[in-house]
Amino acid sequence: MLTLAIKKKWFDMIDKGEKPEEYRDIKPYYNSRLAPHEGTEQEIMLRNGYSSSSPLLQITALVTKGTGNPDWGAEEGKEYWVLKIKKKKRVLPETFIIKARKCKRCGGLLTSKQAVKDGYGHVCKIKANKEKQEDQIQQLCLFDSDET
Ligand SMILES: [Zn+2]
Repeated sequence: MLTLAIKKKWFDMIDKGEKPEEYRDIKPYYNSRLAPHEGTEQEIMLRNGYSSSSPLLQITALVTKGTGNPDWGAEEGKEYWVLKIKKKKRVLPETFIIKARKCKRCGGLLTSKQAVKDGYGHVCKIKANKEKQEDQIQQLCLFDSDET
């Protein structure tokens, strides 16, 4: 799913249903993400901030082009990518989801903030890192034997 960063002001207005459109500049960064979906309804994640605990809003929006409403952040007469919001729902940030609070390796409950962020308990993190290294060494060995 496409994720777009959004300012708090617009995030809150969309959340409250006060802003049914979101605008993005017509420039390569957005063209590459939005042009393939022009004319279709897409599920898009709006994120206010860049951390894993940033508030999220999942929207279903029609991707189109046109001018926007200056009250909602658009410049008068300028053409934008316009996301016409049909549906919206608040989504819990990753770190607040119960599933993410369990160790990915042993399923044990994670109690520290760092562990929740890593997805592993302290001991499992060390073990998982070691396993990853051994995996890489094995892959290297396989690669070497292919060469000869
Ligand atoms: Zn564990």
